Order: sequence, then structure tokens, then C-alpha cells
Amino acid sequence: MCAIVGIFNSKEASRVAYYSLFAMQHRGQEATGISVSNGEILRKIKKKGLVTEVFDEDALKYLKGNSAVGHNRYSTAGSKSVLDAQPIHASYKLGEISVVHNGNLINKDEVRQQLIDEGAIFQSQMDTENIIHLIARSHEEHLRDRVIEALNIIKGAYCLLIQSRHKLFAIRDKYGVRPLSLGQLEDGGYIVSSETCAFDLVGAKFIRDVRPGEMIVFDNEKKGYESIQLFEPTPRICAFEFIYFARPDSVIAGKSVYVVRQEMGKAMAREHKIDADLVIPVPDSGVSAAMGYAHESGIPFEMGIVRNHYVGRTFIEPTQARRDMKVKLKLSPINAILKGKKIVVVDDSIVRGTTSKRIIRILKEAGAKEVHMCITSPVIKHPCKYGIDTPSYEELIGAKMSVEEIREYIKADSLSFLSINSLKKSIGEDMEYSLVSFDGNYFIK
Ligand code: AMP
Repeated sequence: MCAIVGIFNSKEASRVAYYSLFAMQHRGQEATGISVSNGEILRKIKKKGLVTEVFDEDALKYLKGNSAVGHNRYSTAGSKSVLDAQPIHASYKLGEISVVHNGNLINKDEVRQQLIDEGAIFQSQMDTENIIHLIARSHEEHLRDRVIEALNIIKGAYCLLIQSRHKLFAIRDKYGVRPLSLGQLEDGGYIVSSETCAFDLVGAKFIRDVRPGEMIVFDNEKKGYESIQLFEPTPRICAFEFIYFARPDSVIAGKSVYVVRQEMGKAMAREHKIDADLVIPVPDSGVSAAMGYAHESGIPFEMGIVRNHYVGRTFIEPTQARRDMKVKLKLSPINAILKGKKIVVVDDSIVRGTTSKRIIRILKEAGAKEVHMCITSPVIKHPCKYGIDTPSYEELIGAKMSVEEIREYIKADSLSFLSINSLKKSIGEDMEYSLVSFDGNYFIK
């Protein structure tokens, strides 16, 4: 997961980066950081916490410069150290660099071991640190060639921003698993960010997506930007970006995330017709899809559950007991509209089954007669290795149980998942997607 942003040639680089990270807070809440270049030195601040907690006016004043890279981190269990926050910064033969990364490198352990064998010292658990080492120990004369050399060694899903004093490199892996878009700021500068919702907030104009396999180079000494197609593109955008991660107001590969989610809901209504009185979403993740379901089926839509927005995401809590409590803190039912009703509940996914089980209990306690759970993604059967924090096979309920067993476990009157085919149709059949969580096809070898 995670969010990255790069700003180049803008008077207010750190402020624009700050607002962009704020717009992308949903992609990671564990830690955040910004590195800024004023052409002479790189200044950086990174800390655990939300964007608004880490940066204040003094911080933004300190981060003066016309290029910036920023990052929001979504922690996976274990590595919660601030050393695992980004940007990662280093001084090396050619000067200073800061790197931010969204994705996951699949050969990180081999590369890291080889670097350690050759004498490298690591400060963090992050695969991103490999990239800094590869750049630092290259014998190429120019940073650009060092970056290219490193990219030929790393493998996996990555969107990378590499900042030096005078340049900024924006790179997307050849599969384009994670999104990355390019835009222009009102003051003529450029912005590269994980999601286009950041552009809307900072008033940037969308130019285009960074192409899979492309490296864009911004250089203080040159106008505009240079595009280098480093690898043959074989696009496979992560379907989960559309299902869950991305904000509904973002556009990925020319497709509105909101509209795609509505399509998923509509497809669900066609695939699984249910005799019910109300369609309600699990807020906020199921809202767009539930609207689609309601439109297509003609069953009235209601916000039958209210969400308390001041609780972090339930997923990150380490123990099952604490996760259960957090769902309760987060979601509460509106008894008046639920009592005696047959209800279709729409959510985007089931991972461990905690949310669905709890919601069904809440709805039944509120007097619902029947609860039909509609999940607008296929069954998650495999952990994603390309940058999503899905747990191991042991924790994935879809890997351990059949649909009927899950239905029994969450105590639903019925349980339906979207088929892989309908998922592809809903996003658009004009391209291929990364569907590893559903089909186990780990295509990056
Ligand atoms: P669970 O309760 O473990 O079954 O998780 C499913 C809930 O978590 C759904 O409401 C999803 O919207 C949400 N979800 C799915 N994937 C993720 C993820 N990688 N991180 C955080 N939340 C997620």
C-alpha cells in the first residue's frame, strides 16, 4: 500500500506535497515524511503519525525548496520502527538522494543478502533500502545510469520517486501494478502522485498516467520532462486498487474508481438476485457498490449503519479481541430502519471475516429479519505479494473455508461473492489486471 508524491519546480513544493499526502491519508496512517531540495541540500522530516500530526507550519517553513518527495506508510505487522518510515535518505559519492517507494520487491531478500555479503550495513527492514545501496555502489558516472542499473536488479511491484539536489526520477514497474499519475501545477511545476485525488486538492491538471515500464526525469537544467521507456510494458494494474484502496474520486487508467465500484454493485445485483426490503452499505468501503446494487435491483438504499470516523482502520490491530472491539467502536446500527427488515449488506471484501461477522451480529441485534451479505469482490484465497497487506494463508478465511462454511461462520442468511469474470468486466475488459489475491497467479517471476 502506501502513498507517494513528488513535486518538481514549484515554489511551494513542501506545502503541495503536504496537501497531497493529506488527500492520500487513506493509503497509510502509520508514518509520513517529506524530503525537500533547495538545490543545495536535502531537508527531511519523517515521523510516526498522521500527516496533520507530523507537519505544522514550522515544519513546512523548514522544508523550503522547489522539489519534494513524500510518503505515507501503511505498516504491516512487525516493523513499526520510525526507521521504516520514508523517504529514505543517504549521502553517497554523487551527493544526496531521497527515495520513496510504493509496492513490494519480490527479490528483496536475495538482493539484501548479497549486499550484506559485500559489506553493506542496513538501517531498516524495508526493501526500499536495497535501492539506495544499489545506486550508491554503482560505478556509473551519472545518477540516471545508476538508477537504471538498480532497476535492472530489483524485481517486483514498485512506483518509485528518487530525488537528488537537482533532479527527480519517477518510475513505474513494467506491470504498472500500483497507480502513478503525472500532473501540472498552477505555478507551472509538476506533480507525480499515487492517486489523482491529490491533484484535485492542490489544483493540479492531470496530464497522464506514468506508463508501466517508464521513467520520467525532471531536471533543473532542462524545461519540461524527459520520458524514457525502460522496459516493455505488460500492464496488470492491481484490481484491489479499484475494489478497496483507492479513493472513489480518483481515476486510475482512465477509469473512475467510483463508477467502477458502482458497476461491481450492479453486476452483483444481476448475478445474485435477492428478495429484500433494503440495501445497506458497510460504510465507507461498501458505499459506491451498494448504490450500484440498489440502482440495478430497484431495492431502496439506506445508510443503515453509521460510522464513527475518529477510529483508525480495524485491520491494523494486532490481536483478534482488539479488532472485534474496534469494529464495535466504529460502526453502529440505526434500529428504526432495520427492525423486521430483510437486508442486503454490501461490502467490498472479506479478509479474516471479522467485519462481516460483527456487522451481521449488530444488524440482527437491531432487529433485522434476514441479513444477506454481498461481497463485491471474488473470494480472497491468496496473500498478495505485490504491495497489499493481506495476511498469510492461515489468517485468510477464504483460503481455509468454503463459501458455505464462511456463511455459517459469519452467521449470514446468505453470502455471495462477485465472480472473477464480473470483476474484470466491471473494471473494463480493455486491459489485464493483477488478480493474485483471487487466482493465485503470481505473474512476477
Ligand atoms: P475482515 O474484517 O478481516 O474480513 O476485513 C474486511 C474489511 O476490511 C472490509 O470491510 C474491507 O473494506 C477492509 N479491507 C480489505 N482489505 C483491507 C486491507 N488490505 N487493509 C485494510 N482494510 C481492508
